[in-house]
Formats: sequence, C-alpha cells, structure tokens
Amino acid sequence: MRIHLKTLGCRLNEAEIEAWSRDFQALGHELTQELSRADLVVVNSCAVTGEAVRKSRKLIRRAQRNNPAAKLVVTGCYASLDPAGSSGIDLIVNNRDKDRLVEIVSKQLNLHAMPEMATEPGENSLLARGRQRAFIKVQDGCRYRCTFCVVTLARGEERSRPAAEVVDEINQLHADGLLEVVLTGVHIGGYGSEIGSSLFQLIQTILEETRIPRIRLGSVEPWDLPENFWSLFENDRLMPHLHLPLQSGADSVLRRMARRCSSADFRQLVEQARQRVPGFCVTTDIMVGFPGETEEEWQQTLAFVGQMQFSHLHIFSYSPRPGTKAAELPGQISKAQQKERSQALYALGQQLKQANQQANLGLELPVLIESKTETNEETAIWSGYTPNFLRVALRAPAGAALENQIRQVRLEALSEAGDHITASLL
Ligand code: SF4
Repeated sequence: MRIHLKTLGCRLNEAEIEAWSRDFQALGHELTQELSRADLVVVNSCAVTGEAVRKSRKLIRRAQRNNPAAKLVVTGCYASLDPAGSSGIDLIVNNRDKDRLVEIVSKQLNLHAMPEMATEPGENSLLARGRQRAFIKVQDGCRYRCTFCVVTLARGEERSRPAAEVVDEINQLHADGLLEVVLTGVHIGGYGSEIGSSLFQLIQTILEETRIPRIRLGSVEPWDLPENFWSLFENDRLMPHLHLPLQSGADSVLRRMARRCSSADFRQLVEQARQRVPGFCVTTDIMVGFPGETEEEWQQTLAFVGQMQFSHLHIFSYSPRPGTKAAELPGQISKAQQKERSQALYALGQQLKQANQQANLGLELPVLIESKTETNEETAIWSGYTPNFLRVALRAPAGAALENQIRQVRLEALSEAGDHITASLL
C-alpha cells in the first residue's frame, strides 16, 4: 500500500509523522511524496490559530479532491477538537490515540502488512527526503491552562514516554545515519512528573546511553526547568540553544495570559543560561495583539525583547480560539493594529538577529551540513546550522560530498539579506 503523510503545525506533529513513517515502512508499506499515487492519505491537522484551522481544512479538501479513491485518515488538534467538522473522512484518530495510529489504521481499514517488503534497517526515510534532523516526541500534553492556548484542550494531560523508548529511537536513528535529534513535546519541562522522572534524568540518560553527536531541545516553556539544568550543557553534545516562548514582555499581559513566568523570571533564566553556557543563543515566540494589549504594554514588549537579544523571533498574531478563556476577554485588537505591531516587531527581530550574527563572526564552529543550495563548476554552497542554531551558507569546492557531515567552519560575514552567515570550510 502506498501512503502519503501530511502534517501542519508544530514540531510535535512533525515528530509524530516521522514515527508513523517508520512504523508504516516496518509493516512493508511504501511512502509516497505524491498525493495522487497514494492508496492511503494521513493528515495530521493543527488548530493552534484560526489560520491553522483554515489550512487544515484546505489540506483535507485537497486530499479529497485530488485523490478521491484513496482512503483518508485525519488526526491532530483540529480533528480532535472538531470531529464533526471533518466530513467525508474514512477514519478520525483522536489525539489521545495518536501513539497507536498505525495499529488503529491497520486494524480499522484492513491494511495488510507485508513483512517481506519491510524497509531494511539503515534505510531512513528522513535522509531519503533530504532531512538531517529528526524530531523525537518525549512527552505530550500540558497541565497548565494559558488563557490563549487551545493545544492543552486538544492534547490533554501530560504523558511522558519512558526514557528507554526514547533512547532506543535515538539509537536506531543514529544507526541509520542521522547525526542530530530534537527532543520535542508540548511541555517538555514537565517531562517525567507522572512517572517519577524529570527532564534532567531524561537528558542525562540520553547523554549516557546514546552516542548521537547532536541533541537539541525543542520549544521549552520558561518555567519548571529542573535544578542543575544548565550543568547538562557542559556536555557539548547538548546544543547551546533554547527556544523559550516569552509571548509578551509586559507583566500585566503575561498575567492575563496566565503564564507562569514574569519578565523578571525570564530575564534571570536567560542570564543564567548565558553565564553558564558559552555562546548560548535564545529564540522565542511573541504573540501580538493579545486582548486588551494597550500601547503602553506593547512598548514594554518591544523594550523587553530588545534587551533580551534574541537570535530569532517567531511572531504570531493572536486569534481567538473557541473554548479558551482569552476568546471571552474584552478589548480584542483589530487586524490592522496587529499587522502594524507585527511589522514593528519584525524589524526589531531582524536587527537583533543581525547583531547576534555579527557577534559570532570570526568563530570556528562545527556545522551539521544539510543540503546543497547552489553549485557551479568550481564552487558549491551548502546550508547548515551551528550548535547555537545560526544558519550558515558554506562555500566548498564543487564535488565535495558534504551532506549530513559535521565539519568545522569559520564564520566569515553576514549574507547580503542579513538572514544567515557565510562561512568557509577549515
Ligand atoms: S504552557 Fe504551553 S502548552 Fe501549556 S497551556 Fe501554556 S502555552 Fe499551552
């Protein structure tokens, strides 16, 4: 059976389709990038914003229209929150059953396993698709109720994967040739709370029981971080970069959002990271136009973001999500004002990114080389990331086979567009 997998939204959705790809292949099914060739289509939907819901619906409709003969399975936050909205679908798998999706789909849609066609160990579908970084789901769900967040309604309570399972998955990926994994979850800081473990123990176990050269953490809420957290980064296999979602730099907005971290707590966390871990980079999410966000609160956010020297900003416009507290709050901000604020923040984000890149010029760092972006008779340009997650365009002789290698490079200059650093091989 040929299977086409499609995902939208967060890294966790990405981690899930990677796991399903491996499981479907292990049963002898073939993956296809072409929707029109598929016998089965699986859509992992998203509902984090109104826009994500629209995109999820569009993806479902496109699958129905372009390949009506294929069986269609839909899962993810949109399908879990609004199953009635997804008509003409053969099977809906609720988020709570996602970890058993391959088993459920096989049983309910009578897919026949063909073990003789199963992929050989070492044939990794990610590498075959030109992807050098694997997302590993370590936990799901969140115990908090930030007032804007629909994810917590869609994904339910916290569940942690046993460390042994995570270690096995990483070792398998490493044996297949992958050199970098990203540990992903909804609230990674809460890892282990219900199984008598902690994020500290999980990372320590991974560092001890795997040999994969690069381990990253996905988005981590800026609280509940374990004691001694920064000491883990003394092992240079744990990459010196964190994505810590701030959402707003105004404490009054943070309170209305029911975030567990004030701007002072956040500042302290970032200062600790930078003191303890050389070259540490912090990226963040900022939500623009939360209900009631005044001009003064907005200016506080701009000022705070500037002080934190983020190396990248992910900017979201707030959109009310049904079932959340914030959707009922007064003072919804107009789209025009959200756009104006987003543009100002984007400009600030570019300045910060470039200042950060400048500060790293001249350094010699190991880069995981991902893909070739340009080539001529003499030279090829490769793209990759430094340990602290700065994007690099690397000049190398044409013909050098560098894909999926970690090589020492010198960071030389800012690119013309200012969105990455140019570098040369050492
Ligand atoms: S901590 Fe994160 S996942 Fe949990 S409710 Fe808040 S935003 Fe949502």
